[in-house]
Amino acid sequence: MQTRASLYVYPELLARNIADLKILAPGKEIIPMVKSNGYGHGAVEISNTLMDLEINILGVASLAEALELRTQMDKSVCEIYVFSDPQLSDAENLSLYQDFRLTPVISNQSDLNIFLKAKEFAGTPLILKFNTGMNRLGLAPQDLELICGLIKKSGRKSIDHVMTHFACASQSIELAHNTRQQDEFANIICELKKSGLSVHATSIANSGALEQKTGLEYSHIRPGLMMYGPSSLIPGIKSQWNGRIISSLKVRILETRQMKKGDPIGYGLTPISKDGKALIASIGYGDGFNNRYQKSKFQISDSNQTKHDVQVVGRVNMDMVQLLAAPECSIKAGELVSFWDDDPHSIDQICSTSKSIPYELFCQLSVRVPRIFKLP
Ligand SMILES: *Cc1c(COP(=O)(O)O)cnc(C)c1O
Repeated sequence: MQTRASLYVYPELLARNIADLKILAPGKEIIPMVKSNGYGHGAVEISNTLMDLEINILGVASLAEALELRTQMDKSVCEIYVFSDPQLSDAENLSLYQDFRLTPVISNQSDLNIFLKAKEFAGTPLILKFNTGMNRLGLAPQDLELICGLIKKSGRKSIDHVMTHFACASQSIELAHNTRQQDEFANIICELKKSGLSVHATSIANSGALEQKTGLEYSHIRPGLMMYGPSSLIPGIKSQWNGRIISSLKVRILETRQMKKGDPIGYGLTPISKDGKALIASIGYGDGFNNRYQKSKFQISDSNQTKHDVQVVGRVNMDMVQLLAAPECSIKAGELVSFWDDDPHSIDQICSTSKSIPYELFCQLSVRVPRIFKLP
């Protein structure tokens, strides 16, 4: 059967990015973030690949994501950290943590109380996330004394991992807000140790920080987007990252048509702005390629790897999108073209001309788009 739009995923490129990350952050333990279905790439297959790359911990957002990995992965040796939505207030969930060896990241006092009291967590590492200025999740630094008191009262003498998260890592790491967060984090670790608790592991760096070689003084790093290839920095900020996109979005061209300036196209009959060859591509908002990409300009490559400039013209439909290429474009009906490949340039173009970000482009790809893992 012919495919319409599929995401081809290349494990060897993931391996290459992980190797590059180890060069960027020597000696640091990596916690790859595989939340939101592995940034749209397929969490289970991505995680299976990571297991072969000496990764010991995976990060997900919710208990459901963690359970999916624990029950579907080939090997079940790694630790799985549940970051933003551990759902500890539901007592029925506590045994799931124990039975499936999952570790919640504690980011508020109510969860801390549940964690310290429940017998299900007696053997689970204590991981605390602090709010250092993002004001999203995280324990409050003002409550440090109380927090230390609760931990010691429970009989624990150490904290296994202390972390925080940057609010503005996609911007210059030298911004005052970023340095304030770093200072606050260093201070928190200092205060925890002063209270007599030992702290085993620490982390602050997400992709944006790592791309600016920041946060490398701590034991762990938490890369998300960069591991899949793209830079998470806003244009103009210098990145130390030269990742390859680990996937290629391949789309079937259903029809082509020579058109003249002013000819109408698609729903709403949008007139096209110049002569060209319209390519009707089999991807639409039903696949996660939504109307935000109206008018975006990028390069697609054909089956011979030749690049062609195109622009999205008219409205994006549920199943299709109209692209306008140069009149002499050689692409024919039936051809499979790549909207992006391992070179980050195409994704950068799609995102900059649609004011989107690679995070969204990846995560929005719907279940309709098969993820095809290509072994080398
Ligand atoms: C998602 C996430 C990351 C990774 O962020 P990227 O910007 O994708 O690198 C790191 N830490 C936490 C707590 C996260 O939620």
